[in-house]
Amino acid sequence: MSDELNQLYQEVILDHSRKPRNFHTLPGANRRAEGNNPLCGDHFTIYMKLIDDVIEDISFEGGGCAISKAAASIMTDQLKGKTAAEAEKFFSEYQKMVTTGESDNEDMGKLCAFAGVHQFPMRVKCAVLPWHAMLASLKNKPETISTDKDEQ
Ligand code: ZN
Repeated sequence: MSDELNQLYQEVILDHSRKPRNFHTLPGANRRAEGNNPLCGDHFTIYMKLIDDVIEDISFEGGGCAISKAAASIMTDQLKGKTAAEAEKFFSEYQKMVTTGESDNEDMGKLCAFAGVHQFPMRVKCAVLPWHAMLASLKNKPETISTDKDEQ
């Protein structure tokens, strides 16, 4: 990755961590799940309005490091209006990207900002935490998700 692109991605992450999008509770949400990363202190609640397998709306609350907050912000932006199947596909592509730095999917958009995270193994958990919570709410498993037990 070029330095210039790297810097652009860092700016995207900083922007979203300082001014998180969809950062509120969601009236009318019919799905909800919590994610917790005790290693870093990241904790988020994901709210979702899922109608006929389409994510009509999605939001989050909570707090954590810049990476986890930006990940939640960009994720909610990216998944609004997508189907459950599309969201699951983004999840697996994203997980692959943050662990290997590579992606074959050209629709990743701002999610590409997290490709550099694979160089910092401790940060991978931060970057995937909101996604694990999103997946749990999609599957209607409202228990708290902890990345502590995941193999990532
Ligand atoms: Zn973190």
